[in-house]
Amino acid sequence: AKAGGRSSYRLHHPVPQPLDARSRIRLDHAMRLALASKRFRLAYQPQHDLDSGRVIGVEALLRWYDPERGSDISPAEFIPVAEASGFIVAIGEWVLTQAVHQAAQWQRQGWKVPVAVNVSALQFQQPYFVDQVQATLDAASLPPQLLELELTESILLQDAQETLARLQALAQLGVRLAVDDFGTGYSSLAYLKRFPINKLKIDRGFVRGLPGDDSDAAIVRAIVQMARALELGVIAEGVETREQRDFLAQIGCHEGQGYLWAPALEAELLQQRFTEAAQEHGPA
Ligand code: C2E
Ligand code: MG
Ligand code: MG
Ligand code: MG
Repeated sequence: AKAGGRSSYRLHHPVPQPLDARSRIRLDHAMRLALASKRFRLAYQPQHDLDSGRVIGVEALLRWYDPERGSDISPAEFIPVAEASGFIVAIGEWVLTQAVHQAAQWQRQGWKVPVAVNVSALQFQQPYFVDQVQATLDAASLPPQLLELELTESILLQDAQETLARLQALAQLGVRLAVDDFGTGYSSLAYLKRFPINKLKIDRGFVRGLPGDDSDAAIVRAIVQMARALELGVIAEGVETREQRDFLAQIGCHEGQGYLWAPALEAELLQQRFTEAAQEHGPA
């Protein structure tokens, strides 16, 4: 089963073919140009309470339109290149600033919705990362509780002392911390006990097979039970069907995000759709 881990993960997440060196350099150059000429944008995917359907948060996801292709380039394609070249640090700073300002704007308009931002390992490792988060929150006057940082398991596997100190500093600020793509990282579970984590995000690779696939069902059940035992929040990614939603709710996972409700949307559209819906249904 161990040897099959990686390949079955691949099956769940079809990864684009690795690019050759020249294509990587070209893509890296294009990203630098895109950031400088403001061609990146953020889209926001709602996160829902499974029982009421209410929006309980949104995740900021990076979008990049390529005029040559006439469509967006997937972050799954360009983020790994940006991570390899180090440019992810600059992109990540931009994303953090944008998302925090958007959340602050929503808050001023009376919509207090927490915004989740993906943080890359290299970004997290910058010595000034915590100061930067604080400065960004201050500049936008956003209460720290309305920012959630999505960390990957790879971040939590780094040298323990440094990581622990940094996570504690972030928790001290009042920022929420989530583990993204939980269950895909071959990690020791020990970190869940030691680190001030608030929430696990169940990878959509495990949600896809629900409710029929027995091993996916067993894995998701185990994650939900563990989260409960450790008093962590838990949310399922990639919820596409009502059957998946019902299964999750039944086993005690009460939050989800996925195409069943909405893909990542432009900020204004999201606000229209979900604050109007909230008004229709009245305060829950
Ligand atoms: P992620 O953080 O796990 O984000 C969830 C991904 O699943 C998003 O893909 C989202 O559009 C997609 N998704 C949501 N619901 C469904 C569903 O029901 N079905 C399916 N099939 N997919 C769904 P996206 O936007 O293409 O992003 C892919 C990955 O790229 C993200 O995975 C994240 O790891 C990375 N990424 C995106 N934006 C950023 C960013 O600003 N910074 C960093 N460091 N990484 C980012
Ligand atoms: Mg994420
Ligand atoms: Mg995720
Ligand atoms: Mg994922």
